[in-house]
Amino acid sequence: MKRILGYKCTICGREYPFGPELMTCPHCGEKGILDIVYDYKEVGKTLTKESLAANRDNSMWRYRDLMPVAETTDVSKFLRIGWTPLYESVSLRNELGIKALYVKDDGLNPTASLKDRASGVAVAKAIELGYDTISCSSTGNAASSCAGSAARMGLKAVIFVPERAPEGKVSQLMIFGAKLVSVKGDYKATFDLSKAAIEKYGWYNRNAGINPVMIEGKKTVSLEIAEQLNFKPTDWVACSVGDGCTIGGVYNGFKDLYELGLIDRIPKILGVQSTGCCPFVDAVAAGRELLPTEENTLADSIAVGVPRNPVKALRAVEASGGKWIAVSDDDILATMRILGRTEGVFGEPAGVTATAGVIAAVKAGIIKSDESVTTISTGSGLKDVKNALRAAGKPTKCDPDLAALEASGILN
Ligand SMILES: *Cc1c(COP(=O)(O)O)cnc(C)c1O
Ligand SMILES: [Zn+2]
Repeated sequence: MKRILGYKCTICGREYPFGPELMTCPHCGEKGILDIVYDYKEVGKTLTKESLAANRDNSMWRYRDLMPVAETTDVSKFLRIGWTPLYESVSLRNELGIKALYVKDDGLNPTASLKDRASGVAVAKAIELGYDTISCSSTGNAASSCAGSAARMGLKAVIFVPERAPEGKVSQLMIFGAKLVSVKGDYKATFDLSKAAIEKYGWYNRNAGINPVMIEGKKTVSLEIAEQLNFKPTDWVACSVGDGCTIGGVYNGFKDLYELGLIDRIPKILGVQSTGCCPFVDAVAAGRELLPTEENTLADSIAVGVPRNPVKALRAVEASGGKWIAVSDDDILATMRILGRTEGVFGEPAGVTATAGVIAAVKAGIIKSDESVTTISTGSGLKDVKNALRAAGKPTKCDPDLAALEASGILN
């Protein structure tokens, strides 16, 4: 692929050609997460504001010049991933007293989370490289998205989830016909088992922490945000963080556009975690390495005690001049209600965590009143109905007559 110069290790800086495909740096081992390096001169020949304006492919594949997928791979049969709406918020913006607020609703992807972006690329790569089985471990959404894209493209999927995964996500996996392993243990135990099995059976590895192509799908969320804002992105972009791959992708997308000269600055990135599991926030506050953390949050998608992609996540916040912030589970539940009521956006707990972080960052004076913000809702609330009902409360019961309706108090 002429557009791709090769891999570069995020730890030792060693560079490698793009073929054969690598998972991690041969020199550094599993910690040696790789970046894919593009030849922006080459990419810029075909990817321009004008070419995008004329492009009628309303999916993430409109950016395939910036994705590590071969020109010969036919992506037209894939699930329709990406090009999710970016809503301008008026009521929540006014409540917060900031210049502008946009909500990117990535819960509207085909399997209802941002993870579809990575899974689409993974399935494309697996097919391109001749695999018949794809595998991953996941807190739930990577799993369901991987199973959905695999089902659509006729690939077998073997999926490992911790037994705590919410039923909504598990039901998606069962419907998509994946071989589902519900691991009696936490996410770390789940990841380790998947790793051992992938090594033993030689399946394609969709683990987002380490596979360098995953982030290249996730970054399309930023490419879209920028294009939807006429290449004038907001001052801040907020994103919830578990493994750290999503926020790494958010940064990479803006970085690509900056290198191509399509935007003139990279937004500050706000990394948001739950106080019940915030290894990044703790590490940055204490100025030390990440330490394994308990996974005590109802935001299951970001309950990651041992993040697999710390380098790219830390880089995203630092290089963009952003900030890390943690919010409580109560704040997350409250934000589920706030986002639902002010914008009509129904996010799962981890999905609304970025917005909870924006609210906290405005209160803390980190986000200023003259600044604009985009918040990414990373997954749909329908995936976790139990917590949604916890956030919103139970409906009012009523006998089927008007007098009972009035007596119920619901109309007051
Ligand atoms: C996976 C996920 C995240 C966090 O992404 P990481 O790459 O693990 O940091 C946030 N929200 C939702 C809904 C997710 O599924
Ligand atoms: Zn290395």
